[in-house]
Amino acid sequence: MKIICIGRNYAEHAKELGNEIPENPVIFMKPDTAVLKKGSDFYIPEFSQDVHYELEVVLKISKGGKYIQEDKAANYFEEIGLGIDFTARDLQSQLKAKGLPWELAKGFDGSAVLSEFYKKADFDMKNLNFSLVKNKEEVQNGNTSMMIFPPEKIIAFVSQYFTLKTGDLIFTGTPKGVGKVSENDILEGFLEGKKVFDLRIQ
Ligand code: MG
Repeated sequence: MKIICIGRNYAEHAKELGNEIPENPVIFMKPDTAVLKKGSDFYIPEFSQDVHYELEVVLKISKGGKYIQEDKAANYFEEIGLGIDFTARDLQSQLKAKGLPWELAKGFDGSAVLSEFYKKADFDMKNLNFSLVKNKEEVQNGNTSMMIFPPEKIIAFVSQYFTLKTGDLIFTGTPKGVGKVSENDILEGFLEGKKVFDLRIQ
């Protein structure tokens, strides 16, 4: 199983980090060891003083494919969930400044939090609301209509480079409002108003 992630897929988030709006999806990957075990707390790694939450809609690939056409791409995922793309922002900034890959800042153990997955058919993928609450206060609030590259475009783009396999996950990018986590924070993710995960920071 591989985890493909999209960067800068919401204009307001690209702006908040001082990045340009991309012409093509910005792609990076996390190894499968990045998935945080269900029910585990998230431990801030010792190599970062500035770990950020990024709440994202996650697609679960339901059949294999390569060179998937955009108009067929919706047939390649049946389930969706929410996830957090934890990011060591301080380390990422150092790597970006040197023109180096981001993997150390993005793919470390526990950096991929996942909710349960739900049938896509039960949601309007073009108008899906999701939000993150930190210590009882809403910090992120997104809607899939604000994506620069919607799921079909993402699948068509990445499958030109990587064969998609059943069970692969795609993190579709975060809306604005990313921020730092601290010890004892409680994060809660909501999909269309329903709580789909909660998480304690250590
Ligand atoms: Mg992200």
